Amino acid sequence: MFSEGDDESLIMETASEIPAQTNIASVENTPLTEESSATTIQLEEEISASDLYADNSPAAEEYIFKELTIKRGQGLMDALVDSGAERRDAFNAINAFSDHFNVRRIQAGQKMDIAYTAQGDLSRIEMQKDFDNLIVVERTDNDYTSHIEELPSQIITRHASGIIEDSLFLAAQRQGLPQVVIVDLIRIFSYDVDFQREIRKGDQFEIFYERKLSEDGRRVQEGNILFAKLVLSGKEINLYRHTPEGEDFADYFHEDGQSSKRALMKTPIEGARLSSYYGNRRHPVLGYNRMHKGIDFSAPTGTPIMAAGDGVVERASWYGSFGNYVRIRHNGTYKTIYAHMSKYGRGIKKGVRVKQGQIIGYVGATGRVTGRHLHYEVYMNGTQVNPLTLKIPSGIKLADEALEEFHLVMANTNQQIAQAKSHILLTQNTPDMSDTISP
Ligand SMILES: [Zn+2]
Repeated sequence: MFSEGDDESLIMETASEIPAQTNIASVENTPLTEESSATTIQLEEEISASDLYADNSPAAEEYIFKELTIKRGQGLMDALVDSGAERRDAFNAINAFSDHFNVRRIQAGQKMDIAYTAQGDLSRIEMQKDFDNLIVVERTDNDYTSHIEELPSQIITRHASGIIEDSLFLAAQRQGLPQVVIVDLIRIFSYDVDFQREIRKGDQFEIFYERKLSEDGRRVQEGNILFAKLVLSGKEINLYRHTPEGEDFADYFHEDGQSSKRALMKTPIEGARLSSYYGNRRHPVLGYNRMHKGIDFSAPTGTPIMAAGDGVVERASWYGSFGNYVRIRHNGTYKTIYAHMSKYGRGIKKGVRVKQGQIIGYVGATGRVTGRHLHYEVYMNGTQVNPLTLKIPSGIKLADEALEEFHLVMANTNQQIAQAKSHILLTQNTPDMSDTISP
């Protein structure tokens, strides 16, 4: 399946790192194997799951423990009664439970741990609310109370690499990368790489990412990609995760401090005059005041219009008062639209991938207009925003202290990767030894 020689040894080396877990649902719900929990968690002593979280949980000998799984079409009430609870107890327990969870949203397959007294009274319910939180319902005299218990967890890191035979997705899957991480990997490179055209057989990928483990090692949640690398036709693209000071969100940066994301161009047209701003104005044709949800550029008919950023053409056709119209989806957040064009750029049609700066059409006066111009709109999460004041939280290039700060993060990440790699070489045949506990 893979090419021979050095390539193969690379695969062998990395293949031992990660147990094959390609399905997210199964990763979430399936305990890790014995040896992986033993090697990665390093619990001080063997403790069972049932007594892990609950210092105040009843002593095992006085109680009967049951695991309950909600069946299809079953409500929590029925499930509790089925498992042996008195109707009145189940009702009161659910009441308490409702403080932390909408019980009508409960889904088939949801598991709960239930404790009954030796006399058969419903005593305690535990349900995982999310990765870090457990809902606990406890009996108090004849009623029930509920609270949330925060569950301890730790972050480990993993390293994987491989050779692309067909697609990055399949190559990453073969190395045991969970789907959610692969999707993230593709997303962070999507500003640099045209995945439909630029991937060749023999290209390589490398990834270093985090994974959250519950203290008992039974639950796993995939975390952030800290570093990713693609080698495309011999050319390396490295991305490091970093949150610049003063920014709310982490971003991915090349070694030179350039954000992987590129800002949208504010003016997707050259040599044009801004003729109408974003905001309230008197509509030139309809006569009444209305919100102008874009900006207009006045330019001679036939002036080229460029794609404001990389993306996929969602529409390139007549659209009512907009006339000849193009809409580009740049990513999950941004779209841009271009209206009143005289004609479309070469090859511009629905589904086509465009690069920032590519000509997508030409200025015209189609649709409901008084004169030739480009009407340009930027959509952010589904609503129009002012392109002139838009602050895309990226597209930045770090400089001076910000760059130095980033280079420290980079060096730290590189060091962690080197450690992970040397660990693999030392323990090539031991699964999961590439996991390193983060400081
Ligand atoms: Zn306009």
